[in-house]
Order: sequence, then structure tokens, then C-alpha cells
Amino acid sequence: MADLLTAAFVAALLLSVALRLWLAGRQVRHVARHRGAVPAPFAASVPLAAHQRAADYTLAKLRFGLVELAFGSALLLGWTLLGGLDALNTLLRNAVLPRGGALAYQLALLGGFALVGTLLELPFAVYQTFRIEQQFGFNRMTARLFIVDQLKALALMVVVGAPLAALVLWIMGRAGSLWWLWAWGVWALFNLALMVLYPTLIAPLFNTFTPLADEALRGRVQALMQRCGFAAKGLFVMDGSRRSAHGNAYFTGLGAAKRVVFFDTLLAKLQPAEVEAVLAHELGHFKHRHVTQRVVMLLGFSLAALALLGWLSGQSGFYVGLGVRPNLSAPNDALALLLFMLAAPVFSFFAQPLLAALSRRHEFQADAYACAHADGAELARALLKLHEDNASTLTPDPLYARAYYSHPPAAERLAALPAA
Ligand SMILES: [Zn+2]
Repeated sequence: MADLLTAAFVAALLLSVALRLWLAGRQVRHVARHRGAVPAPFAASVPLAAHQRAADYTLAKLRFGLVELAFGSALLLGWTLLGGLDALNTLLRNAVLPRGGALAYQLALLGGFALVGTLLELPFAVYQTFRIEQQFGFNRMTARLFIVDQLKALALMVVVGAPLAALVLWIMGRAGSLWWLWAWGVWALFNLALMVLYPTLIAPLFNTFTPLADEALRGRVQALMQRCGFAAKGLFVMDGSRRSAHGNAYFTGLGAAKRVVFFDTLLAKLQPAEVEAVLAHELGHFKHRHVTQRVVMLLGFSLAALALLGWLSGQSGFYVGLGVRPNLSAPNDALALLLFMLAAPVFSFFAQPLLAALSRRHEFQADAYACAHADGAELARALLKLHEDNASTLTPDPLYARAYYSHPPAAERLAALPAA
């Protein structure tokens, strides 16, 4: 089995990298070719300078993405077939197992892997924020805030991630051959708890949320929610401008704990009627149960993945085929988790276009809902403004958009609005 797995892993990695390169190349050429002129449907509403800024921003992100792809692929091979994870495992097993015991060793392995990975990816995050986003005027983050964010994320990983990992490892060691079913139950509960606790406990660690003060806008929004039969705990404004000029609005929470959150950057750019239309779109997602569908899908996928891991973790070929010697006198559960997390995305990449297509379908449905309950022309205006402000290209390569875009390209999306 080991050789077969190695061959499948290498083949999937090569194929996915080749596909990504090909798609990125198409996108670069398409965007560059259309940089010179604003496409006809937008000629009256989008200035040439904004169109060219969007093209330049898109190209800068694509080129950076290629560097990340090369590094990520090399790193993946380094961890697996070239022996990186095996070396880290040997080191930590010898250092921690004799003194701390099996659980401490396995937690050290997960923690060590996460730490090395975070440190290696840090330069990319720094470059993206302080070079690309900065260059196009999107970055609002100071170096200090960046460091504080990283430290907070690390603290969360220790406080929330470590106990969860310990519980899963304990289940893997104790629950017998059906451990994956129990682990899935814990995972499902954790995700549902997170949906309730994230808006009130975790998000406020990173941002300030203040109740929406603008009386006129609040009146509009409340009237819309009443028309749509939607109850939320509150309307909040988030200081997204602390980090970035990109604007957004979203719902979070579950059941009665639902809240509507507007980025301050969104409110600064849109007129009240446009904000109302954007919110109506978000309500559309809710009314069509897109969030519930996504959660159910996520839980279904994780059940299938854990069942597969339940089988793989008992096969020595799984470890050897991915470049790791399994432990003979210590549990292999942490190793199995890490190897699975490393290898699975190489295969699941090929499902990405399906997920993207589903997401685009949801966007069309939410737009249609917004047009039925708010002003479609306002929605069109808002979408165009957000497109321009986020420097999203109006001329993506059609195949690239099919493969990756979670939102329909602007031209398709606006054409589908009845009012436009
Ligand atoms: Zn949407």
C-alpha cells in the first residue's frame, strides 16, 4: 500500500500544481489583455484609472500567489516524503516521551508542527499585509497591531486548541475502532459551540463592536428585517478599519444569539439605501438556509474524512507511504492527524470547483431575494462600488472564475439583477 499511496500523492500534487499554474497563467493573460479599456457595460460607471488599479492589484496578488504555491508545495514535500515530519517526530519523541508520557509527547508534536508552520508562513503574511495591501492603499494595520494579533491567535491556540487536541487524542487512544465516530461528535459539538460563542467571546478579542448609532439607517434596517420576518439580537458596527480598507457585512451566531455586523468601512462607502440592499442580500442567504446547508455539508465531509482516517491510521503503509516511520512503542495518533491534514488538501483540491459553483449559485439566490425585498438598482450600485473599492477585476478569465470564484464575476452578477 505504501508505494501506491506515494505514487497517488505525488501524482495528485503534480497535477494540482500544474492545474493551478495553468489557471493562474490564463488569469494573468486575460486581466493584462483587458487592462487598457473598461469593458463596455461598465464604461459609464467605472473610471479607467480604477479599472487599471484593479488589474494591477489582481496581477500583484496572482504573482504573489505563485510564489506561495511554489513554497507551499516544497514545504509539503519537505514535511512528508523528504522526512521533515519524521525528523520532528523522532526529536520530540526522544525528548518528551520518557519524561512526560504519551499524551505530552503527542501534544508536543502537534504544537511543534503548528509552531514551525506558523513561523515559516509568517514572512508571507507580513509581505501580503505590509507590501501588497499597503501598496494599493488597503492596509490600515500597524506593525504593533500585527504582532498583537499573532500573539492573541497563539494564546487562543493554547487555551482552546490544546484542550480540544488533548480530548481528541484521548478519544483516539481509548475509544477503540470506532474512535472516529466519537471524535466526530466532539468536533461537531465544538463547531456548534463556536458558532454561539465566537460573536460574543472571540471576535471581541480582535475588534470593537458598537451598536449601530445612525438613527435613519437603523430605522431602514429594522423595517427591512420586519418585512422579511427576521429577528436578530442586535445591529453592530465593527471597526474593520483598524486593519483594512476592505468593507463587508455579515450575520453571525445561531438561533436567538444572531446578530448583524456592519464593517465601519462599508458604512463609510455606501448610502443608506445601498446598505439596506446589501443587508437584504445577506438576509437572502439566511432565508435560503445557505448557512445551515454549509454547516451540514461541513459536518458530512468531516465525518467521511474521520472515517477514512480511522481506517488509514491503522495501516503502516499510510505512514511509510507519506515519508514517516510509525512509532513502535508510542501511540501514532498525533502523527496520523498531522499526515492526514497535510495530504488531504492535495486530493480535496479537485473538489474546489464544485464548492465554488455551489457558492456562486447561493449568491445568485441571495441577489434575487434582495431584489424582491429591497431595491435592485441600489444593490447593483452597491455591488459596483464594493467591486471598485476592493479593486476586484471586472475582466476575470472565465475558466479561472469557474474554478475559484465564490462570487459570480461582476458582469454576470449584475446582468442577473432584474433592475439592472
Ligand atoms: Zn452573498
